[in-house]
Amino acid sequence: MKTVYFFGAGKADGSAQMKALLGGKGGNLAEMTRIGLPVPPGFTITTEVCTHYVTHRKSYPRELFPQAEAALKRLENLTGKKFGHAKNPLLVSVRSGARESMPGMMDTILNLGLNDLTVEPLATRSANPRFAWDSYRRFIQMYGDVVLQVRSRGKDAHDPFEEILSNLKEEVGAERDTSLTAGNLRELVSRYKKLIQRRTGSEFPQDPKKQLWGAIGAVFESWNNDRAIVYRRKYHIPHTWGTAVNVQAMVFGNLGNTSATGVAFTRDPATGKKEIYGEYLINAQGEDVVAGVRTPYPISRMRQEMPKAYAELERIRNLLERHFRDMQDFEFTIEDNKVYMLQTRSGKRTGLAAVRIAVEMEKERLIDWKKALLRVPPDSLSHVLAPVFDRKDRQQAQGEGRLLAKGLAAGPGAASGKAVFNAEDAVEWANRGEKVLLARIETTPEDLRGMIAAEGILTARGGVSSHAALVARQMGKVCVCGAQDIHVDYSHRRMVVKNRTIREGDSISIDGTSGEVFEGEVRTAPSEIVQVLITSSLEGRKSLIYRQFATLMKWADKVRTLKIRTNADQPDQAANAIAFGAEGIGLCRTEHMFFGGNRIDAVREMIIAETPEARQRALLKLLPYQREDFIGIFRQMRGLPVTIRTLDPPLHEFLPNDGEILRELADKLQIPYEKIASRVAQLHEANPMLGHRGCRLGISYPEITQIQARAIFEAAAFVKKEGVPVRPEIMIPLVGFPRELSLQLAIVHQAAKEVEEASRVTIPYSVGTMIEVPRAALVAGEIASEAEFFSFGTNDLTQMVLGMSRDDSGSFLPDYLEHEIVKANPFSSIDQSGLGKLMALAIEQGRKVRPTLKVGICGEHGGDPASVEFCHALGLDYVSCSPYRVPIARLAAAHAVLKASTVAGVRAKGKRER
Ligand code: ADP
Ligand code: MG
Ligand code: MG
Repeated sequence: MKTVYFFGAGKADGSAQMKALLGGKGGNLAEMTRIGLPVPPGFTITTEVCTHYVTHRKSYPRELFPQAEAALKRLENLTGKKFGHAKNPLLVSVRSGARESMPGMMDTILNLGLNDLTVEPLATRSANPRFAWDSYRRFIQMYGDVVLQVRSRGKDAHDPFEEILSNLKEEVGAERDTSLTAGNLRELVSRYKKLIQRRTGSEFPQDPKKQLWGAIGAVFESWNNDRAIVYRRKYHIPHTWGTAVNVQAMVFGNLGNTSATGVAFTRDPATGKKEIYGEYLINAQGEDVVAGVRTPYPISRMRQEMPKAYAELERIRNLLERHFRDMQDFEFTIEDNKVYMLQTRSGKRTGLAAVRIAVEMEKERLIDWKKALLRVPPDSLSHVLAPVFDRKDRQQAQGEGRLLAKGLAAGPGAASGKAVFNAEDAVEWANRGEKVLLARIETTPEDLRGMIAAEGILTARGGVSSHAALVARQMGKVCVCGAQDIHVDYSHRRMVVKNRTIREGDSISIDGTSGEVFEGEVRTAPSEIVQVLITSSLEGRKSLIYRQFATLMKWADKVRTLKIRTNADQPDQAANAIAFGAEGIGLCRTEHMFFGGNRIDAVREMIIAETPEARQRALLKLLPYQREDFIGIFRQMRGLPVTIRTLDPPLHEFLPNDGEILRELADKLQIPYEKIASRVAQLHEANPMLGHRGCRLGISYPEITQIQARAIFEAAAFVKKEGVPVRPEIMIPLVGFPRELSLQLAIVHQAAKEVEEASRVTIPYSVGTMIEVPRAALVAGEIASEAEFFSFGTNDLTQMVLGMSRDDSGSFLPDYLEHEIVKANPFSSIDQSGLGKLMALAIEQGRKVRPTLKVGICGEHGGDPASVEFCHALGLDYVSCSPYRVPIARLAAAHAVLKASTVAGVRAKGKRER
């Protein structure tokens, strides 16, 4: 087995195609070496070794040692340096790198090979003792943290190395790290070594080989640390993949003022704008930029400060984009004005940037429109549609002096919430239902859980490529970082800015598009796309993001075959959904219409009624209201299909449970209070979700279905007479027995006949049922003989198939996710391997009996991209989701086609080749 892959001097054993084996970092280091970019030489130990390490009680395959030895020799020969040499020592970095980038999940160790002996030649050869001692102290710090696990203790504590460093800075009156002298740094090294002796009971290891194997083991070890596991779980990265280890010759960004280190994107990852974007620190090593310990300069400044290096970066930027055909996020170091590439990968970006980059790269012919579509994750559109600060409210806040600070705009969108100062509290508060903003000096991977729980993230230090910014962009969180005027004080759980103290629980607001931080709450306003499409307060052609969004949607509609409908029960919702591209209503809930104005009185009268006649009387009062609602919706939908569900919830949901209001109701209806109270008691159910609801209401009280059907058909006839086409689809909920459906449909057909005769209008309607009781799926064939369509009610179906109550699952689902019993919340993403089978069965049985059977889905899942793709694969005709998720579903439906054709294409190609 080949366990080690070498790269250097224009040649590499590996390539970008081998990311599974070499990890993303290793694969791309090899690739960059091959295309002639300046990459320091080194070698990659494969992910297979990691898997071996994890599954064989932390031991290595035997062949690793000779292969690693040989690679090390080759590296020594190529660099002309030697490991542990007293005059010309080789120093390396040891870097982790999984198949998919896991920012900051694994730790990197720089300057490995330094010890009390080799630090001296480094000082003399560079004629820069300060640099040598700085490198040494960094090495001890990283090694101490990552390998020897000398770390902060407790959530409010500071990092012990950082503490020693800032104490020393204070003692000698140094404001910046760079103002420490060689002597100071030598002192720092000695204090670090003492700390390590104290904490671990043994001395800091001096033998470079021992250091190397310690570091390699620690990288493999870190694959299974808590935060790596949390990250993988969130992003569904298999635990079996493992990480590779990269051992690479050091180049030095801390060699003086002609050296620097930086991180850059080939395009702006927040907005997508086509310009090199990033930041750098002069006289520093890489970790400083990434860790956000010092706030770096924007890259644009390099144009003046280091013009030669800047020009080289521009050249590299073009090469990278032309080769990788995607926006790249790359890391570089400048050693004495020469640029070295240390990493590249496809850059994480905000939803906003994803749209812009995809559309513009298609224009530049770097990618075709199908690729461009696949470059935008459907869910990221929710970010594009997310609110920004309301202009007036923001102005007022500023006028009142509530603008506290300005940081860097790192994750667009606006958010308000209560300030918390550590990740644990963020999780705890969020679990209590509070909206929180997590404020930290800087974030580390340890904070991940808190960042997930928070609405937004605010940091006092660190640039746009700091950990906070990176993670926020990926999660689509609002983020402001590097707000330097803010002094966060962990131990008192507060922050001080401009003589103002914000304590834990105080409201703050941040704008991740402008970088502003406000005290108190600032109201938010809709995104530009919403302003164009929904509020009509902005002209489409004046908004770049709207135009690009429209282009993307046009492409999506060109390939998708799945129809997208919406769940709407009011005309304005229907209008919004159409603006977002909905092609019909997949679920119109009639019960929502029962609550408006004084209708609820008639509804309650109907429920209290003791005879069918009394019930009929009350229902007739409701009829005109319902008819009016349907007229509004039919007008809005102009002939697009409208699926209307007959009454679904248990009746007690319409009754007050407050004694006072019951008394008022008794007065209004002139019924004795006791009678009403006893009716309420009578309607009480132990398991209302499995109780007297859905079509069971229509079975017990046929007049409810009858009046609803009449309202629908009268409205349809009325609108059709106005010259507007109509297409009502009447849907019966909670059917489990074919006969339930027959009985209900008889009523519906009768009502249609009566209305058509009375109005002399023929109404093109259809009838169907929801599939939301498992029994219905099992007898779908029989049901399909009467139903013209099925609509999967995946909310109820999930509850009943999994035997999990949606309302009560909050108490155990987090554990289920934690233990990976379920991969995602089954109430937001379809349980494909379980529930999905039942859906497939129902479709197959149904279409066998009625080949033209139309099938859709109207649960929450209709707006979940993974579920949309699944529905496409199952052969559904449409998905229905809330209006604001319609664009997401359109894009997901397009992805489903494109991904399926990629798979089919690969298969076909495979066949030809065979
Ligand atoms: P991460 O995966 O957390 O980004 P990296 O392995 O990329 O960690 O290392 C972080 C930083 O360390 C890099 O951005 C780079 O600046 C610096 N670094 C890594 N290896 C070297 C090296 N051989 N020479 C100089 N700097 C290095
Ligand atoms: Mg990196
Ligand atoms: Mg239901």
